[in-house]
Amino acid sequence: MSVVEETAYVALGSNLANPRHQVEQALRELDCITETTVTAHSPLYLTPPLGPPGQADYVNAVARLRTRLEPLALLDALQAIEAAHARVRGEHWGPRTLDLDLLLFGERSVEHPRLRVPHAEMHRRAFVLVPLYDIDPDLTIPGHGALHTLVQTSDRAGMRRLAEGDDD
Ligand code: AMP
Repeated sequence: MSVVEETAYVALGSNLANPRHQVEQALRELDCITETTVTAHSPLYLTPPLGPPGQADYVNAVARLRTRLEPLALLDALQAIEAAHARVRGEHWGPRTLDLDLLLFGERSVEHPRLRVPHAEMHRRAFVLVPLYDIDPDLTIPGHGALHTLVQTSDRAGMRRLAEGDDD
């Protein structure tokens, strides 16, 4: 555990097993991580999947945390939440229903076999950049520049904000 409190950003995504519920539940679970508080989160977005066709759309969001954990300890906590969400009916390990990516951790860069921060793909992904911009529009992404510029040049095709009560 670190004595220094840092601001971290986490991207959430799900396209299985009631994705909206998965993401909303995960937001509550992030707030239960030891030494960690969720201080803001974006609206939820419905996003066309990357990769092969035939997959359901994703529900995406970004959360801002304050944490006293070290980056790898925070990653452990995120992976524990992911693992709990992958359990289908409490019996079998099903397909992954929740993806949690650590985007930024204060001003730090981390190069570790298990963890790269800033997240290596974040500057290319509209489903990360747009909700991040909702929370903190003045952010700069180390190595990639101003968030508002990255958002403007990102491919937001097909992305839509989920309103309260929308079906996913
Ligand atoms: P993925 O399933 O594509 O999200 O990748 C998960 C793997 O990426 C795990 O083995 C993590 O240890 C690793 N990883 C590296 N950097 C990060 C990061 N910034 N956030 C989350 N996982 C990461």
